Amino acid sequence: MLRPDATSEPIYADAAPASLRAWVDVDLDAIRRNAARLRARAGVPIVAMVKADAYGTGMLPVVRALGAGFEGQPHAATEGPWAFGVATLDEAATLRDAGCSARILCTSPLSIADLPDAHRLDVTPALHRADDIAAWAAVGGSAWHLAIDTGMSRAGARWDDVAALAPTIRMHAPEGVFTHFHSAELDDGSRQHQEECFARARASLHSALPAGVLVHSDNSAAIAAREAGSPGHLARPGIGLYGSNVVRALGLEQVVHLRARIIDVRDVLDGESVSYGATWSARGTRRIATVALGYADGYRRALSNRGHAIVRGQCVPVAGTVTMDMTMLDVTDVADGCAVGDIATFIGRDGSDCLWTDDVAAAAELSPYELLVGLRLRLPRRYRSDA
Ligand SMILES: *Cc1c(COP(=O)(O)O)cnc(C)c1O
Repeated sequence: MLRPDATSEPIYADAAPASLRAWVDVDLDAIRRNAARLRARAGVPIVAMVKADAYGTGMLPVVRALGAGFEGQPHAATEGPWAFGVATLDEAATLRDAGCSARILCTSPLSIADLPDAHRLDVTPALHRADDIAAWAAVGGSAWHLAIDTGMSRAGARWDDVAALAPTIRMHAPEGVFTHFHSAELDDGSRQHQEECFARARASLHSALPAGVLVHSDNSAAIAAREAGSPGHLARPGIGLYGSNVVRALGLEQVVHLRARIIDVRDVLDGESVSYGATWSARGTRRIATVALGYADGYRRALSNRGHAIVRGQCVPVAGTVTMDMTMLDVTDVADGCAVGDIATFIGRDGSDCLWTDDVAAAAELSPYELLVGLRLRLPRRYRSDA
């Protein structure tokens, strides 16, 4: 569960105000370095996926950290992402309201009723139906990307049916054309199969697509899977920016550090139980610390009797069921004891030890995406950046 993290400096666990109950430290410098690594590996500019509040880390601070696009801040076109990727118009509106002038690509389908707002917000939509493409042109929309379904069966035009769009595309040319992989993290040939379908779809449209149309496909796992860089003109990493899923493949850094305060310490006698359902019982006298963190904060109930925390530099197990607002730890073995007010780290780094998002998610039988996105708004975010 505990693996050393040699990739960056320890980040303060102890510099939090005593009034903080539970919080998430987000290492913006680590996000920036992860973006640079993904960009270098892909060999093409990236669309930084910041949907779902940047996977729970906080969309606006992340977009600012990744550089540019905010008024008063020079746009570093060579360094910053080519665009930011969102899934909803509300997310795009939040970025525009905050003064973000960068390009915004919305990769999820919008309804026709949303297209006037998308135009007003200067969003580049992903479209795949002739009616939508015509409606986009009718509201005065310009750049759009053609989504092609090569096996995800979620959104986009079927790869073997896309030629039907040729007349529409000839009238309203897309700026880009893309697909999305369903299992790029598996070495099972499915990505290669989807690439083949994607190539055939483009070939079936070739005279309709403009020369220089921007081709893109790679999510974080696909970027990690390739030695020779991403094909096409762009790549769209999400989870890798936030230090997860492809961490081992690319040497990315932990970004998210979930911490909470110890609010009680007590001795539990031999045979006595801890928490709902009495799923944990003491063998001999055990020292139990109660921490101000529960599933209402996003520390999932599935981590009952499975999760761990770092307390005073030691890794200790969760004892019993995670409750809505509190979680108990067996701190009997913490060498110098622990006290009310101490900080427990449930995800991320404290000192030289790290509980990696991927390992915590695996312990909960969750995807790292769900674990990160599920960190609730009740948790304040604190941002660290030396830049
Ligand atoms: C979310 C998303 C991504 C990012 O995928 P990761 O696995 O998080 O890197 C890329 N493209 C599309 C269309 C997406 O919806």
